[in-house]
Amino acid sequence: MQVQSMFFKQTASTKLNDAVLQRVMKKAKVKFVDGRAEGVALIDNWEDIRTYAAAMRDRVIANLDAYLIEFEKNAIRRGSVVHWAETAEEANAIIVKIAQENDVKAVTKSKSMVSEEVALNDALEAVGVSVLETDLGEYILQLAKEPPSHIVAPAVHKSKEQVAQLFVDHHHSPGTPPLTDIAAMTREAREVLRGRFLSADMGISGANFIIAETGTTLTVTNEGNADMVTTIPRIHCVITGIEKVIPTLEDFATLIRLLPRSAIGQTISNYLTLTTGIKAPDEQEGPAQMHIVLVDAGRTKLVGSDMSEMLRCIRCGACMNHCPVYQNVGGHAYGWVYPGPMGSVLTPVYQGIEKGGDLPNAATFCGECQVVCPVKIPLPDLMRKLREQQFDKKLRPFSERFGIAVWSYFVQRPKLYSLAASVGARFAAWLGGRGKLIHKLPGIDGWTDGRDMPAPEGRTFRELYVEKQRIKKANS
Ligand code: SF4
Repeated sequence: MQVQSMFFKQTASTKLNDAVLQRVMKKAKVKFVDGRAEGVALIDNWEDIRTYAAAMRDRVIANLDAYLIEFEKNAIRRGSVVHWAETAEEANAIIVKIAQENDVKAVTKSKSMVSEEVALNDALEAVGVSVLETDLGEYILQLAKEPPSHIVAPAVHKSKEQVAQLFVDHHHSPGTPPLTDIAAMTREAREVLRGRFLSADMGISGANFIIAETGTTLTVTNEGNADMVTTIPRIHCVITGIEKVIPTLEDFATLIRLLPRSAIGQTISNYLTLTTGIKAPDEQEGPAQMHIVLVDAGRTKLVGSDMSEMLRCIRCGACMNHCPVYQNVGGHAYGWVYPGPMGSVLTPVYQGIEKGGDLPNAATFCGECQVVCPVKIPLPDLMRKLREQQFDKKLRPFSERFGIAVWSYFVQRPKLYSLAASVGARFAAWLGGRGKLIHKLPGIDGWTDGRDMPAPEGRTFRELYVEKQRIKKANS
């Protein structure tokens, strides 16, 4: 998927005027935010689990090489082939080669954000392999030819009427009335997918975690499609980021208490699909070949850097669900695979700060993302560091850099700052006029283009504080 993050402002503006999107995002917000709050309230030691999980993820990242080698050794022991891909292109080339060498014509896929990251479907389709997304949300988006707008609920931006119309366009003859009953639509998708599950040559899945001590890959789903993808075809291929490794099954037991609760408030997801190696001679199900592609694509450069905390991420989506910016503009505005606060960090970090555009600034810094992150990633702090990088590299507009430089000059000289604030407050009060609302701020009209700003009363906080102290002293 091509990075479009530099168009964030324009796309966000369009999304704010999209009535359907606004309606569905409002509904989603209630479901995600209230759902998480209820799920979390059921656990007494939520904060302790978060603290433990964050420390565990840090330990893994600090010893990433050792855990990955342990994982590789155990996966090979169970008959898997482990491939290492340094770049997105390498990951695609490996999987295309597996498909070509095994005469694969049809692939079924369960949801994988890493495969979106590397644009795997395009690479396979370019060599004549048909790819079918089997997660319902991803299937809808495949029909619509759109990228996901959320990492857990990829089609959250679509209304049921839009999905019904897509089903008519792709499953029925023209003129068939659309069916907006969700259960019926789900049944219809299942009927279409069923035959393809059974005839696929290769199944491709992502992995929420990979477990070093057993060589297991693990997928968390609500639809059970990952079970079909990983067990029915003769070849199973897993594509995942190297940071997904965790030491033990017991660590997974901890993380699974956090993941679905943070995502949508579920105490546990409907399906946990653990795959360890190929089908044994005495087993009835499982693939004859299992390939695991471990993708770096920019991850190792975060290890030991001031962005390394981002590698803790377990892709739950809570940060975007609670972000006032994401809640209003949806995921497509962010212009790459990962939306919301985590995307505002990952896109510039993986794709280059130059391509990050406005993303590190697409935050109010309310801090809610950090509060809800199950592995305590300091997202606002990481975005602030990216803002600093953009400032230092002169990637922000001149007016913004000039404004910050002027502010920085004054703020380092308290007396001058106090004087300037006093003059500024009086000027702004005068600008507000009798209505006490400022309709236009010269030089920074972006602030007042869509809103009026209440004018200050004319005196600064410092002045009011000094006066209050004086009165208090006089009365004592
Ligand atoms: S940054 Fe935290 S809240 Fe956001 S997706 Fe990752 S783990 Fe979840």
